[in-house]
Amino acid sequence: MSQINVNEVPDEVQAEHFDVLIVGAGISGIDAAYHVQQRCPEKSFLVLEGLGSFGGTWLTQRYPGIRSDSDLYTFGYGFKPWTGPPIASASEILSYLHEVIDENGLSCHIRYRHRINSASWSSADGMWMIEATRTDTGERCRFVTNFLWMCQGYYRHGDGFTPDWPGMDRFSGQIVHPHTWPDGLDLGGKNVIVIGSGATAATLVPAIAADCERVTVVQRSPTYFFSAPNSNEVADMLRELEIPEEWVHEIVRRKILHDQQAIIRLSFEQPEFLKTELIKLVRDRLPPGYDVEKHFTPGYRPWRQRIALIPDGDLLAAISSGKVTMVTDEIRNFTEDGILLMGGEELAADIIITATGFNLSVLGDIDFAIDGKPLDLADTITYRGAMFTGVPNLAWIFGYFRVSWTLRADLISDLVCRLLAHMATLGASKVTPQLRPEDAGMPVLPWFDPENFNPGYMMRSVDLLPKRGDKPEWQHSQDYWTEKDLLPNADLDDGCLAYE
Ligand SMILES: Cc1cc2nc3c(=O)[nH]c(=O)nc-3n(C[C@H](O)[C@H](O)[C@H](O)COP(=O)(O)OP(=O)(O)OC[C@H]3O[C@@H](n4cnc5c(N)ncnc54)[C@H](O)[C@@H]3O)c2cc1C
Repeated sequence: MSQINVNEVPDEVQAEHFDVLIVGAGISGIDAAYHVQQRCPEKSFLVLEGLGSFGGTWLTQRYPGIRSDSDLYTFGYGFKPWTGPPIASASEILSYLHEVIDENGLSCHIRYRHRINSASWSSADGMWMIEATRTDTGERCRFVTNFLWMCQGYYRHGDGFTPDWPGMDRFSGQIVHPHTWPDGLDLGGKNVIVIGSGATAATLVPAIAADCERVTVVQRSPTYFFSAPNSNEVADMLRELEIPEEWVHEIVRRKILHDQQAIIRLSFEQPEFLKTELIKLVRDRLPPGYDVEKHFTPGYRPWRQRIALIPDGDLLAAISSGKVTMVTDEIRNFTEDGILLMGGEELAADIIITATGFNLSVLGDIDFAIDGKPLDLADTITYRGAMFTGVPNLAWIFGYFRVSWTLRADLISDLVCRLLAHMATLGASKVTPQLRPEDAGMPVLPWFDPENFNPGYMMRSVDLLPKRGDKPEWQHSQDYWTEKDLLPNADLDDGCLAYE
């Protein structure tokens, strides 16, 4: 690390220099830091994190029952074995990340309570200038870096999405969003409505059902669930044979990915068959005569949205116990006592929980500029879902949604480290994605194909995201099985990247 003066900044604060600066110490940022340390040991690097600790999602989400909805053999890193049950609580994920930081001596490379406000690229200096605020002291800090690596996640922490229903202000009870769960909220004996039936509701409802007088889940439309025991037979068998954990991790990871690929293929080739099988798994765990058609039969093809895994069918057990009621209808308005549905039914509640999703945050709410001109990412086309046309020396981790996010964080981390090494070999200090002559006239499409994948939080904000083209070089396909071979072999000299 060296100290250099940055003439552009208005005051005399010295800027610290790092070869690579990573934004965010969530599961992606820790992955990136591990990779830089392992693959580019000659590079200085720093992780800046706005919060007081690591973990991102697994630190900020504090609603009851918070847990992963994909298995940790694939949500965990390729390089660090997962040894617990497949579905993990937030605290188990934080312990795993803590071990990764500890075992690799990463903590001295992370600065907490540093929220980045702006990042501007200066062609004259060939550097990114970063301004951050220390959230504990309010002090402003400056950094300069050759390469900026965005690992800031995709949603705004501490600010969940709540639709604007008429009459919300009239409701006399409490409205709570899971993303801003109040400390000490007492649900004991309360009549609770949960709006939404996605992964958050599916996690939260079984965790609060026993405490509450009654829980009513109000959903506009049903969701697919995959109900399975929270154990893995292959892992159990391998452990019985005293196979080393590294092997268990790799074998179980491959088995899970193999099975998921088969399910995804089925969702395209035989969607009706898959739909019937998923719904049967749900029906088998509900009382005879339960209206599965109405409450658990989605109108869309499976995998258009992530299929939430419900360990040991806990949500269905809570419904079977009679504590939890599903209601499938639209909300007309809030009333003083609860909610009035379009169908005319009125539901009373002491507390309404809006499990209605997040607000997308593109690039961590940081003001970006290139040579003084504000950057709008929506004007760019993505290079392999990791970099952007016209934006020099910047990479972004945007993971998978249908399978574990981290699978892509690992792939992109490998790609970025390979790129940094390639630049060193070329003697280049700048890399910028650019369309090639053969890309002229390529269709410019939204970031993702809504026919393929269309959850509400992405549909609401697709205009904010970069564009994609119709070639593998210019998109993030959300297809792990293609990208796992494509990304490690991507030709860094195919003309998509301009080096200087
Ligand atoms: C409740 C919930 C459950 C989920 N379960 C799963 C699951 O089971 N499987 C799965 O694949 N995905 C799941 N996801 C998606 C999940 O968010 C990602 O998989 C993953 O945790 C994202 O990690 P990340 O490090 O990329 O981002 P985040 O976890 O969002 O972390 C980003 C970090 O960057 C920091 N940051 C952002 N902007 C700035 C800034 N300007 N300055 C400084 N720091 C900044 C943030 O403070 C944060 O710590 C879940 C999401 C939620 C909300």
